[in-house]
Amino acid sequence: MSLANLYLHRRQERRVQRGHPWVFSNEVAIDRSPLTAFEPGDCVNVLSHSGKPLGTAYVNPHSLICARMLSAEPDCVLDDAMLASRISEALVLRETLGWLPFCRLVYGESDRLPGLVVDAYGDVLVAQIGTAGMERMRDGIVAALLELCRPSAVVLRNDLASRKLEGLDTYIEVAHGHCPEAVSVRENETEFEIAPLAGQKTGWYYDQRCNRALVAERSHGRSVLDCFSYVGGFGIQAARAGAASVLCLDASQSALECAARNASLNGVEGTVELRRGDAFDALRALRDEGRRFDVVVVDPPAFIRRRKDRRSGLEAYRRLNRRAMQVLADDGLMLSASCSFHLSPEEHQAMIAGAADDVGRWIQILTRGHQAADHPVHPGLPESEYLKALLIRVVRG
Ligand code: SAH
Repeated sequence: MSLANLYLHRRQERRVQRGHPWVFSNEVAIDRSPLTAFEPGDCVNVLSHSGKPLGTAYVNPHSLICARMLSAEPDCVLDDAMLASRISEALVLRETLGWLPFCRLVYGESDRLPGLVVDAYGDVLVAQIGTAGMERMRDGIVAALLELCRPSAVVLRNDLASRKLEGLDTYIEVAHGHCPEAVSVRENETEFEIAPLAGQKTGWYYDQRCNRALVAERSHGRSVLDCFSYVGGFGIQAARAGAASVLCLDASQSALECAARNASLNGVEGTVELRRGDAFDALRALRDEGRRFDVVVVDPPAFIRRRKDRRSGLEAYRRLNRRAMQVLADDGLMLSASCSFHLSPEEHQAMIAGAADDVGRWIQILTRGHQAADHPVHPGLPESEYLKALLIRVVRG
């Protein structure tokens, strides 16, 4: 049996034709294929204005992104078998990387599983379902994860605010087994304890794995400031690599308590100092106290979540980087990251150069960092490539 058709408007089909996996509701020829005829999660054949098949998608008639492509082939159905085969394909990549069982197992569209993210913390898996189409498959997702990974627990961290755009409620649920309050993560030979039920996102940010190693490699014998430290990902790896001192700075008390436990876990509690506060204020205070660091990491949350926030976000990034440079020792190193997709790598670099200019310094770019390979980039979906990090040397002007 063939699926119902979803026709696109003339001239609105090129993006999908070129491989972008999202259809926006204004691109659909609703006179020929009314969106109201579909239930969230229904699979459809997407067709160009002239009737050329573009592939299969699942729909959500209530969302701005009203269809997400599943395949370039027509008449595919997102069923338990497809879920299992795509999750097992995703596992093959992670096996190849050698990062199991501590890595991102599934990264949405990039693993041809739009709306699904899964992170592995040993034998505890934390899934995040972002769309109505995937929510409909939740039992199949849990069953496939049990079958393929044999975890002791599967947690659904379905508390993403963006679920509201899909007409979904938000909840956290242990869908299988028992999930302890704290679970272990091992990354770059460092041990962490994180909270999969209460922490940010799924509990840990695997995307910075390689950038943390970059910083650790340069930290021996140096003083390090980990600004926006969360539970100490950068700072504690730097301390383990022999940093002389590390200051972890974050606004979240619970993140810092976790960072303190992580410092002890790695025997570096003597070198790791914690400070709670707003990073902008704390950087200014550190500057005024005369504190200087050989290595500074700035890894803020996304300041540009929507395109319309670009101006104010760009200004915030520049102000932050300026302040970070003011606490950097002469000839210091800085890793400056941005996870805002709406800030391009070119703009990110120009912003950092601008911040250096503001404080009378100049910079050299040593390494360009990216999201780790367990967050692979979908070549048709620029949005899947979001993390930028420049390791720079900051020199007196
Ligand atoms: N560097 C971390 C991830 C950072 S996520 C890692 O390697 O895992 C961003 C962090 O910024 C969160 O921990 C959040 O609590 C913190 N944060 C958000 N706004 C802040 C602010 N204004 N000042 C200080 N910390 C802030």
